[in-house]
Amino acid sequence: MNALTNKYAVVTGGSRGIGAATVIALAEAGADVAFTYNSSADAAAAVVKEVERLGRRCFAIEADAADAAAVANAVREAFASLGGLDILVNNAGVGAIGPIDGFGLADIDRAIAINIRAVYAASQAAAPLLADGGRLIHLGSCAAARVTGPGMTLYAMTKAALVGLSKGLARELGDRHITSNVVQPGPIDTDMNPADGPYAQPQIDHLAINRFGTPAEVAAAITYLAGPTAGYLTGTELTLDGGHAA
Ligand code: NDP
Repeated sequence: MNALTNKYAVVTGGSRGIGAATVIALAEAGADVAFTYNSSADAAAAVVKEVERLGRRCFAIEADAADAAAVANAVREAFASLGGLDILVNNAGVGAIGPIDGFGLADIDRAIAINIRAVYAASQAAAPLLADGGRLIHLGSCAAARVTGPGMTLYAMTKAALVGLSKGLARELGDRHITSNVVQPGPIDTDMNPADGPYAQPQIDHLAINRFGTPAEVAAAITYLAGPTAGYLTGTELTLDGGHAA
C-alpha cells in the first residue's frame, strides 16, 4: 500500500509546472486527483492521461483562479467526482514581477485575486468537505522570506500573505487534525521562471546550491506534507530554495 492509497486530492493549476508535477507525484503515491486549469486544455488532458496510466482516477476542471466562485465550485465538483477530499494543494499563481510603479490597480487586484483570494476561497470551500486528518498545502515563495532586489514587491506581498492565511487555517482546523502549511520554493524551472531565461543567473547568484530546482523536487516536498508521517507539522513554512535564505 502506498502512502496516499485511498486519499483524494485537489490541486489548483495542475496543467503545467509545479502543479502538474504535484498531480503526478500524488497519483504515484496512490491518490486519486482532480485539478484545475485555466487555459492549457491540451496540457491538462496530457496530465489526466499520465495519471490514468498510473492506474489512478483523474479529473481536470476548467476554473479561472481570478474568479473566486469558480474556484470554490471547482473544489466542490472535485469532491463530488472523487467521492471525498483529503488534500488541497493551492498551487495556481501568477508572477507579477516588475517595478512598483509599473502596476496599475487592475494588475494589483488580479495578482491579489489569483495569488491570495483564490487560496482563501478554495480553502473555505474545502474546509467542510475535508476528512479529519486532511491537508492544506499552499504554494508560497522564498520571496516571502527574503527579497534580494527590486521588482518583487507585488509578488512578495501576495506570497507573504499566504503565511498568515495558512497559520490561521492551522488554528481553525487543528481540532480536526487537519494541517495547513506553506511550501516556499526558490527558483524552479517552469514556464513561469525558465532556468534558461534572462533572469536566471541573477537568481542563481543568490543561492547556496547553484542551480534551479525542479518541479519534481517541489512535488516531493508537497507529497511528504500530504502523507501520513507529516501529521504533526502544521502552521509553518517548508522552504526549499537552494539556500536562498541561508
Ligand atoms: P507555471 O506558470 O509554470 O504554471 C502555472 C499553473 O497554474 C498552470 O497549470 C496554469 O494553468 C495555472 N494557472 C495560472 N493562472 C491560473 C488561473 N488564473 N486560474 C487557474 N489556473 C491558473 O507556474 P509554476 O509551476 O512555476 O508555479 C506554480 C506555483 O508555484 C505558483 O503559485 C508560483 O507562484 C509558485 N512558485 C513558483 C516558483 C518558480 O520559480 N517557478 C518559485 C516560487 C513559487 P493554465 O496553463 O491552464 O493557465
